[in-house]
Amino acid sequence: MKVKPNMINIVMFGPPGAGKGTQARLLGKRFGYVYIATGDMFREHIKNQTALGKLAQQYIDNGDLVPDEVTIDMIREEIKKAPQAEGYIFDGFPRTIVQARVLDDFLQSKNARVNAVFALEVPEAVLIERILNRGKTSGRKDDANVETIKVRLEKYKTNTEPLKNYYREKGVLYEIDGLQPIEEIHEEISRIIEQLKNGNGR
Ligand code: ADP
Repeated sequence: MKVKPNMINIVMFGPPGAGKGTQARLLGKRFGYVYIATGDMFREHIKNQTALGKLAQQYIDNGDLVPDEVTIDMIREEIKKAPQAEGYIFDGFPRTIVQARVLDDFLQSKNARVNAVFALEVPEAVLIERILNRGKTSGRKDDANVETIKVRLEKYKTNTEPLKNYYREKGVLYEIDGLQPIEEIHEEISRIIEQLKNGNGR
């Protein structure tokens, strides 16, 4: 597969409710990178009642992570659909160290890498409030119940938060104040991406 040498790959990082999806969609529109959201993909599978959807549903409804093999196979298929992308924006992936290593190997095989990880920082009380609010309209079972939300936040702390160090050590982690207005966060992140595109990044 041929890959553009200046490919930019971005990971949106943070706990549930931090605003990853909102920012990822805005960035996708602005920069034209391919947006890949594992949560959306799982929900699409569940809606269509595919084998993968049936398998994932119990984990998601309980607030657990879907097993790595399942998630990784799904994402491989998705990436294959857009081999000529100028870059990817990952939302909700990677969520474990195993997933992060797989992503690194995959990008390395294309002579690319994760260029920036934007970690949205939001206090837990605000996260719970935001998710419950979203639950009023999202129709997502995992958004409607405080207990499930707390399980998700716990899983985040145990499995996903350690990735921050992983990416910090690689020098690609950017911590962003997720309490700022949506548009300000978008501008802050966009400025960094512009710098990366111009070769002035880290
Ligand atoms: P949020 O970021 O609000 O938790 P998502 O839509 O990203 O919402 O994810 C919903 C659920 O889908 C997660 O709680 C988890 O069960 C599952 N999921 C999404 N991405 C992954 C992943 N990379 N690995 C394992 N499970 C995942």
